[in-house]
Amino acid sequence: MLLPQEIIRRKRDGEELSREEIDFFVKGITEGYVSEGQIAAFAMAVYFRGMTMDERIALTEAMRDSGDVLEWKSLGLDGPVVDKHSTGGVGDVVSLMLGPMVAACGGYVPMISGRGLGHTGGTLDKFDAIPGYNTAPDNALFRKVVKEVGVAIIGQTGNLAPADKRFYAIRDVTATVESIPLITASILSKKLAAGLDALAMDVKAGSGAFMPTFEGSVELAESIVEVANGAGCKTTALITSMDQVLASSAGNAVEVREAVRYLKGDFRNPRLHEVTMALCAEMLMLGNLASTETEARGKLQEALDSGEAAERFARMVAALGGPADFMARYDDYLEKAPIVRPIYPEKEGVVEAMDTRAVGLAVVALGGGRTKPTDAIDYAVGFTDFAALGDRVGGKKPLAVAHVRSEAQFAEAQKRIREAVTVGDRMPEPKPMVLKKIVPKER
Ligand code: URA
Repeated sequence: MLLPQEIIRRKRDGEELSREEIDFFVKGITEGYVSEGQIAAFAMAVYFRGMTMDERIALTEAMRDSGDVLEWKSLGLDGPVVDKHSTGGVGDVVSLMLGPMVAACGGYVPMISGRGLGHTGGTLDKFDAIPGYNTAPDNALFRKVVKEVGVAIIGQTGNLAPADKRFYAIRDVTATVESIPLITASILSKKLAAGLDALAMDVKAGSGAFMPTFEGSVELAESIVEVANGAGCKTTALITSMDQVLASSAGNAVEVREAVRYLKGDFRNPRLHEVTMALCAEMLMLGNLASTETEARGKLQEALDSGEAAERFARMVAALGGPADFMARYDDYLEKAPIVRPIYPEKEGVVEAMDTRAVGLAVVALGGGRTKPTDAIDYAVGFTDFAALGDRVGGKKPLAVAHVRSEAQFAEAQKRIREAVTVGDRMPEPKPMVLKKIVPKER
């Protein structure tokens, strides 16, 4: 007979757990026969001892199978079911454009996204900024929108990976979040429960990334790619830069506005464009919708130029209860802050560096993010026109434009942004947005 304390003891002593032991423990998390103390001890043992790839695959599969696993075969779709997941960033509005772009190229994107976590923004919070948009449709409507529009971006529905929900809540309060095997299983159990054929991972690196070092981001990406492929989902990862705010804006309504303008071709921030195109191209290649990156990029550009990607976004918004004329009248629908005012640096110069995490925390401080899960969000606040690394600022060029509710908020935002952005006379070295691509190792 298996005993939770024996499994914990074996992991504590650095032994490799069998699939049977991992299945038993995860079942205990879901069904409740493993206590909170045992889960915490198990997490700490894994934190210190790590897990082999085989253990990680077993853990991911057990957590994936702890609840519903979606299936798409019965819909008879004529293309692959593909998705993207990012480890979280600031001004990371990629999903809003990527889903419709890939759908316009023949993919089906059932994207189950999350809320903001810590200093990072959440895709779900951005969609909640669209009046009427239902981020929690029933399964029938979710499937209908995926089939008819090719993309539906929603929140967790039903009972996906319930083991992760309990496990993560305990890790969060026992200093065991920062474990690569546990992060891998947590992220992938939820994504793989969506029944994907393929997944493109965006693992962020830099001052706004969840992982503190570049090497850590690479290690996480390698773990995710090995485990996802091992669990039967074709996956690659791009390591992308979070050394500065990705889009020109950071917040909720302000980022939705930027996404709409991107899709319509009114304004495309080059950094955001590069990351979006690179991830979309991965999805098309993984889903066999393109055989080379050049072919994929050609199709994606055509989806943007023809207006088809914008059309898919409009149809998704309308199908999920948002305004039918959102693309034309988005500015009327999205909430606006009463004070919109530039923040200038204390001295003129070049943007040398950015503490992107601090920028994310500035958005949270304005009420654009949460400090605890039950907090309400202020969709209108945030920043636009964010200066990029290497930009000259001062004179007429601000660090950013603040969207705030009060003079006190403006003063606080100004202080935080001035502290977060280093202005000097040294031009930073230009770096690509995509720092590295991780593909599965030959097994
Ligand atoms: N995000 C997750 O979903 N899980 C983790 O463990 C860390 C980040």
